[in-house]
Amino acid sequence: MTPVPEPAVKAWIREFGVTVPRGATAPSPEDVEAAARGLAHPLVVKAYGPDLVHKSDAGAVRLNVGSPRAAAEAAAEMRAALAARGAAADGFLVEEQAAPGVEVIVGAVRDPVFGPVLLVGLGGVWTEALRDTALRLCPIAEADARAMLDELRGRALLDGARGRPGVDRDALVEVMLAVGGPDGIVDRLGEGFTEFELNPVICGPDGAVAVDARLLGA
Ligand code: ADP
Ligand code: MG
Repeated sequence: MTPVPEPAVKAWIREFGVTVPRGATAPSPEDVEAAARGLAHPLVVKAYGPDLVHKSDAGAVRLNVGSPRAAAEAAAEMRAALAARGAAADGFLVEEQAAPGVEVIVGAVRDPVFGPVLLVGLGGVWTEALRDTALRLCPIAEADARAMLDELRGRALLDGARGRPGVDRDALVEVMLAVGGPDGIVDRLGEGFTEFELNPVICGPDGAVAVDARLLGA
């Protein structure tokens, strides 16, 4: 099973209408400062590569970075920390930080019997702890996507709670259709994938941004 590098997955899913943060890649920390110019702050710096499946656990994600210079320093620190643990990065991704919102996972796995199954859930990094997910066989229709969101125990979060605005459900539904709908990402991947995951899609009152994208080939 071959993991596809995060920047390549993000570039590819844009073709399906999925919004991803503006960003640039750099082969080494020395190139990060130049790559970061022209991007709006705050920035996020990530190291990527086959050693880095759960990047935050590996110290390979830095949020709230204030300048291109600081981004380069963050990348250099990451490289050193990874090397100390015998791991290495293939490269660095510097991207714009999305505004906070409700973090949702949109993913797909291929069941050996039933074929591709789309999953949506609340929680971002807490998904596994919350176990609040809805599943459908692919391809899904728009009504399926909306019904899946209504099945979530935590759906009230999508409607706004404790003074927070509700999220743009239409934008989230569009992401779900881009992944699991007819002619969507899963459809295009066919037999060529084991696992596809956008975790999280950050959903705000005005749009949904896929800030992490993982594709495990067949
Ligand atoms: P991993 O899941 O491999 O640990 P992520 O790329 O998902 O790494 O980053 C970890 C967390 O950092 C995300 O769950 C999200 O909360 C936050 N994050 C990552 N990239 C961005 C971004 N561009 N904008 C805002 N938040 C981000
Ligand atoms: Mg993630």
